[in-house]
Amino acid sequence: MPSSRFQQSLKNPDDFTLTFELIPTRGGRNRKIDATLRLAGDLTIDGRIEAVSITDNAGGHPALTPDVVGLEMKELGLDVISHFSCKDKNRNEMESLLFGWDRVGLHNLLIISGDYPQKGYCGNPKPVFDMDSVHVLDLLSHMNTLEYSSHATMPTRFFKGVVVSPFKTTEAEQIMQYYKLHRKIIAGADYVITQLGYDARKFHETLLYMQLNGLNKPVLGNVFIPSMPLVELMHKNQLPGCVIPDSLYKEFQLEAKAKDRGKKARIDRGARLLAVMKGMGYNGAHIGGPGLTMEDFDFLLTRATKYETEWESLIPDLTNWPQDQFYCYRKDERSGLNLPEQLPRKKPALIQKPRPTFTAANLTHVLVFESGGPFFKIAKKISLAMAETRLQRPFHLLEYLIKFILFKCQDCGDCTLSKLGFICPQSSCAKYLLNGPCGGSRDGWCEIYPGRRKCLYVRAYQRLAPWKKEEQFKTGFVPPRNWKLADSSSWINFFSGKDNSGGCSKE
Ligand code: SF4
Repeated sequence: MPSSRFQQSLKNPDDFTLTFELIPTRGGRNRKIDATLRLAGDLTIDGRIEAVSITDNAGGHPALTPDVVGLEMKELGLDVISHFSCKDKNRNEMESLLFGWDRVGLHNLLIISGDYPQKGYCGNPKPVFDMDSVHVLDLLSHMNTLEYSSHATMPTRFFKGVVVSPFKTTEAEQIMQYYKLHRKIIAGADYVITQLGYDARKFHETLLYMQLNGLNKPVLGNVFIPSMPLVELMHKNQLPGCVIPDSLYKEFQLEAKAKDRGKKARIDRGARLLAVMKGMGYNGAHIGGPGLTMEDFDFLLTRATKYETEWESLIPDLTNWPQDQFYCYRKDERSGLNLPEQLPRKKPALIQKPRPTFTAANLTHVLVFESGGPFFKIAKKISLAMAETRLQRPFHLLEYLIKFILFKCQDCGDCTLSKLGFICPQSSCAKYLLNGPCGGSRDGWCEIYPGRRKCLYVRAYQRLAPWKKEEQFKTGFVPPRNWKLADSSSWINFFSGKDNSGGCSKE
């Protein structure tokens, strides 16, 4: 079966691939979804985009599912990218859904952690996050092989996209975004889409990072045309991961004084951004924004074409990232973008006194839980001797008490402390992520608890960087939690090989 139009375009180095994001709303039959389908019909006739991408419960709100909308769009003749988020489904539901999507030909995916679930029927739902985006990529890569599928069906044919954010204000957040991208690509990502933003140099940073680190995957830049209410939300940090700095906010406000409330000016900014992305070497652009019409889309692309030859002169106008915030690379004063020269990391942010808990836990780990450690053999002997005896319960209780006091342990039995800077993801990450941060943190704070709780991965980076151990987040893979081990001794599980230390649990 030939690959999709979208895939063919991404594989062709001479193509600049355009995709368009559509957001299904709450409800299966309403005027908004009819309008979305009409727009999709017009986009098909227009022929300039390679695929529409369809969100999965965007903003954490329940909405019409991407597969239902996707199939209708396919019937119109459009290629479809279905977003696949981790927030609402456990691993079995994911697999079941993926079998269905494979059957009906929805093969282009965009794998995301997902926005934290918001109010639904009778209150807020349980945030599932059973697997993170790296786990889903690994599952998909396995499903795409004959070996995995031989028990059940033919290999699937998923084409797997991921997201990365260039728009993080602090060193720890930005570097961890890029390190997670390494893990995503190792786990099988086929293409990358950036988070939305408006600063040319930050967009360039992602391209440069990928080039310098051998992350050779096609990347689409996000061209998002916001409405003014969205500008307000982004500026107030109420849309996770979307940043509008003060200087840019003022520009939007000035533009909003026009008769059309600044809509044309906002689309024009999108057109300039698109031209700059093409000029700097992006493989394509991912266009989106609420309420965009066919006329707006046409205006955007016509203007972008006009700007193409002068893209370098547009960079100063698209420079709005605060200079005192984090950049990976030295500025190229000539172009306004970046030189391939890494800026020194800001030491003061990193040199924090090693926390006694971390130092003690690290030392204990080396002495007791590493196979060459002096106490490894005896600890293993004692732990295994406890297993399946009357002493197992008190042994487990003692372990739990120590780990609860030190790490707020949640007794999962499948411990990942040593892989995450001795911070428990079950109690310290709202999305229980095991392989790197989501895209929602802002100024180091967790998306869900701004100003109250630091992102787990910021804390882990700050703990590990002074020891030069932070690069462990680039490679490696922390398997999803095995729920069979809940409420059991992780020490016994570790020494008996039942936990995540040897890879995916066989239990
Ligand atoms: S702790 Fe970090 S990774 Fe976890 S939900 Fe909060 S921002 Fe996302």
